[in-house]
Amino acid sequence: MIEPKPGGVVTEAYLRVKPEDGYELRDVMGGDLRREVRVLDHGFVALVDAMPRMVAVEPGSGEAPSADGAIVQAARVSYGVGTKKVSEDRGLIRYLMRHRHTTPFEMVEFKFHCSMPIFIARQWIRHRTANVNEYSGRYSIMPDRFYHPTVDAVRKQSKTNRQGGEESIDAATAQQFLDYLTRAEEHYKEYVSLTEQGVTRELARAGLPVNLYTEWYWKCDLHNILHFLNLRLDEHAQLEIREYARAMLALIEPIVPVAVEAFRDYMLEGMRLTRLEIDAIRNGNPEIETTNSREQREWQDKRGRLGISDDR
Ligand SMILES: Cc1cc2nc3c(=O)[nH]c(=O)nc-3n(C[C@H](O)[C@H](O)[C@H](O)COP(=O)(O)OP(=O)(O)OC[C@H]3O[C@@H](n4cnc5c(N)ncnc54)[C@H](O)[C@@H]3O)c2cc1C
Repeated sequence: MIEPKPGGVVTEAYLRVKPEDGYELRDVMGGDLRREVRVLDHGFVALVDAMPRMVAVEPGSGEAPSADGAIVQAARVSYGVGTKKVSEDRGLIRYLMRHRHTTPFEMVEFKFHCSMPIFIARQWIRHRTANVNEYSGRYSIMPDRFYHPTVDAVRKQSKTNRQGGEESIDAATAQQFLDYLTRAEEHYKEYVSLTEQGVTRELARAGLPVNLYTEWYWKCDLHNILHFLNLRLDEHAQLEIREYARAMLALIEPIVPVAVEAFRDYMLEGMRLTRLEIDAIRNGNPEIETTNSREQREWQDKRGRLGISDDR
């Protein structure tokens, strides 16, 4: 046993430094080297590592090993040793999430191996807080894998949202679109042939379409993963990247169940209200005081979610 330093913050978990002090070490990934979810037609998100990977559980407790404890451990440096029980751990994590006390969530990290079409990688790479190492098209030939949406996933351009699509387009136009992709992919043979004739790979790839799959290792802390998920699970995000976000959430949820529950409750399925919206609710007005039609539409969406729309 290590004696706590006078005045220092030493939790019970720190005091148990060896198994003989009374704990079992368990792998949060249950001994798996890789947990993979297939996404789109050739893509995947695979969880390949986690920090903490090994966690202490009470011997014989049957407790599922979880990395939530690392959040609590970091937070207790701020809040002291006062709360120790599992129910209190849950309360503490939920408090941290509600009050945007974010740094304890950075103490957990996940490393993924992912494969996605290049046009999705371009959106994903904007999340700057991750560490990324991508397949090199300068060093190696790009594999012959292209994204083809299902006919149902070929969307019509939305009339209200310039950035998005909504319902499926008619089957004939969808087929025309898929044929257009196939024609673009015919460049692949020429790409390989040109590299064989000596054109450098870094230039030859310039004629390939952006539905070509790339892959990377992507490591990020839990705070920034949740930020990524909050943005990319949202219905305003492109359907294809939402599929990746769903896969990522499914992979981390069993490892940080309490943090993900809090994330769903306070962020993902929560709602932020503006001052104008709060005023409208207070005064019982169906509309907010603005001439901005987009803001009005967003408010009507929120009213629908709150169950206070007129067409209830
Ligand atoms: C629906 C949707 C539509 C989008 N449309 C477009 C578009 O049309 N054009 C476009 O260019 N982008 C677009 N984006 C990308 C968007 O603007 C962000 O770049 C992306 O979502 C990453 O968000 P982030 O910067 O918060 O995340 P991260 O880069 O992961 O950063 C996380 C947080 O860290 C902080 N941070 C990171 N780097 C800095 C820094 N250098 N300075 C200060 N703070 C920093 C910020 O608080 C940030 O929120 C879109 C994103 C979404 C979700």
